Amino acid sequence: MISIDHPFVRLFSRYLREQGLPITQQREAVAQVVFSTTGHLSVEEIEQRLRQGSERIGKATIYRTLDLLVKSKLVEEHDFGEGFKRYEHRLSRQPIHEHLICLECGSVTEFRSDEVQAVEHRVAAEYGFAPARHRLEIYGLCRDCRTAGVKLPPGGLSCPIETV
Ligand SMILES: [Zn+2]
Ligand SMILES: [Zn+2]
Repeated sequence: MISIDHPFVRLFSRYLREQGLPITQQREAVAQVVFSTTGHLSVEEIEQRLRQGSERIGKATIYRTLDLLVKSKLVEEHDFGEGFKRYEHRLSRQPIHEHLICLECGSVTEFRSDEVQAVEHRVAAEYGFAPARHRLEIYGLCRDCRTAGVKLPPGGLSCPIETV
């Protein structure tokens, strides 16, 4: 059994209550898994972690709960062009961050850059645009993969979506 003790799970339960949706042990267990990591989890990984906590929850319930978590704005959905989505909660200490995505091993590294923030503000001001959020994803090879001798295909980086 996964113990439901994360304060953010309570925020999610409150959201469910406000929406008139049932608060179930299964939904709370999925939320608990997502909130207890700072990573970018796939549905497979979430299912694995639930199983480690000996929680038997069907994929449909996991998908439905993730959908609700995204709607509640507590969780962000990412599509890194891998053919599946990844989920990360938005209550980390780094609410604004960018992503480095390794095309070889699929690792996701986060970084924060004041310069990127400055570009957002400058461009927005130039176009009279009110920015709400932005997303920067850099695809390539992580340090480990490069050390292991993996090379990018000649001709540089191809769009991973096109190669699927
Ligand atoms: Zn890698
Ligand atoms: Zn992230």
